[in-house]
Amino acid sequence: MKPFDLSGKTALVTGASSGLGAHFARCLGAAGATVVLAARRADRLQSLQADLAKGKVAARSVDLDVQSGESIAQALDAAGPLDIVVNNAGISIVKPALEMPEADWDAVVDTNLRGAWLVAQAAAKRWVADGRPGSIVNIGSILGLRTIGQVAPYNASKAGLIHLTKALAMEWARYRIRVNAICPGYIETEMNSAFWQTPGGQKLIERIPQRRIGKPEELDGALLLLASDAGSFMTGSVVTVDGGHTVSSL
Ligand code: NAD
Repeated sequence: MKPFDLSGKTALVTGASSGLGAHFARCLGAAGATVVLAARRADRLQSLQADLAKGKVAARSVDLDVQSGESIAQALDAAGPLDIVVNNAGISIVKPALEMPEADWDAVVDTNLRGAWLVAQAAAKRWVADGRPGSIVNIGSILGLRTIGQVAPYNASKAGLIHLTKALAMEWARYRIRVNAICPGYIETEMNSAFWQTPGGQKLIERIPQRRIGKPEELDGALLLLASDAGSFMTGSVVTVDGGHTVSSL
């Protein structure tokens, strides 16, 4: 078997309607997996699904709002048996901590941490009931390891997600369920590409040891390692992919 081969596996990606989630779905599909695109924007999922079909990738779409346990249960029932779950859905709200309303805290933490937890638990319950192994890849952030200003709930949610990864890895190893996390540094997507050309963006890049931001495809190695049997002895691992940003000089 080729390393990173996902033939015969089915992978669900949350927040697959844009950015890294859409990229992860393409990457897993290119490695041979059937992909289940899960998000709220059905029109975007349909067009990604059609695009994947052109590349002979089998894909289907399910409606999913990770803030709702009911939506998660319905999405996982509709998805059918899975082998891999990528907890990618995430949001950030930028405000000084003193001015952060309770509702903004709830939205960020409910999406990034509670949502990932509920999706992981729903997938694991099904795997345990079916006696099936599984692999969960949580998309953390370097902001779960270090902090920046104005995104306190985001920082806290991603730190929580990293610790959750380790807690679930420990509890679920006995069921052959692996739980790992990727902590990306700054990665260029359509949402943030204009920022990197601004003076603020350029100043930030100067603090990254590799003096550049990453491309989505530079996360592929970590994703395929953790998702596939190539990472069969890895659980509770946190893989940082950041051009050295978190080891930059203090
Ligand atoms: P993005 O905004 O393009 O993607 C986030 C996706 O999550 C969107 O498709 C959005 O619709 C979906 N989503 C949000 N709330 C949801 C909900 N309640 N239910 C279902 N889907 C929901 O941003 P992105 O940059 O692609 O981020 C993807 C993940 O990567 C996030 O978890 C983010 O924190 C993480 N991340 C991104 C970077 C980066 O530089 N781009 C760096 C580190 C971590």
